[in-house]
Amino acid sequence: MSTDPRLRLSPSAVNDYNNCPQLYKYRAIDKLSQPPSLDAERGTLVHTVLHDLFENLPVDRTELTAIELLPSRWRDQVAAKPVLAEMVTNEKEWLDRAASLITTYFTLEAPATFEATHREMHLENDFSPQVYLHGYVDRLDIAPTGEVRIIDYKTGKSPKPGWEEKALFQLRVYALLYWKTNGVLPRLLQLIYLGDGKLVKSNPTLADLASAEKFLQRTADDIFISIEKDYWPPKPSRLCDWCFFKTICPAHVI
Ligand code: SF4
Repeated sequence: MSTDPRLRLSPSAVNDYNNCPQLYKYRAIDKLSQPPSLDAERGTLVHTVLHDLFENLPVDRTELTAIELLPSRWRDQVAAKPVLAEMVTNEKEWLDRAASLITTYFTLEAPATFEATHREMHLENDFSPQVYLHGYVDRLDIAPTGEVRIIDYKTGKSPKPGWEEKALFQLRVYALLYWKTNGVLPRLLQLIYLGDGKLVKSNPTLADLASAEKFLQRTADDIFISIEKDYWPPKPSRLCDWCFFKTICPAHVI
């Protein structure tokens, strides 16, 4: 458990607070636990396979290799979290669904043609004396020319038109962290949506990073005010339908 008294910010914590301060409180302040969700566990399985695929020589980074990794990686996941065995009633169907996401991945990238320089890379920064900023990057590739690209895999579908900028916020924070730590502006940010086989790309500018930094600072200031006043207004939205805390949330409990 961290003894650092600073506010710990990550892109997901920032999204939680801006989506719904009450949800942020449940997760970040009260630290209430949530049961595993099948969507999240499917995401973990596919991420693990795509991570481990790059342990192979380029010639062996094939769709077949990736699909063959699925059963053993799933067994490891169940061993670490035995409740998953009860949640997944049809293992074949479960693995087939994960395999179809892997198949989609191979329509979007050719992993035999490049090296993944870092996978599950932890980036962190002393954002301010009161705020520690960090995040885990799925993959960060450094080309022989020194150009950097940051990749994030999503097992869901791509955002509707007009929502791409919001989706890119997470990667802009990673770009900011990388730039602050290494003094290199990543050339490309890329979200890979395996749910519908689409890519969302952006070439970040220093102005984009400055704007992400301002947004982070504003959110941190708002969180400090919420902490001081113990004020966590629920913000009902369509997200409530997926929110585990709906049964205890003041917006829904009369
Ligand atoms: S149910 Fe809705 S309003 Fe309540 S905490 Fe969850 S997201 Fe927020």
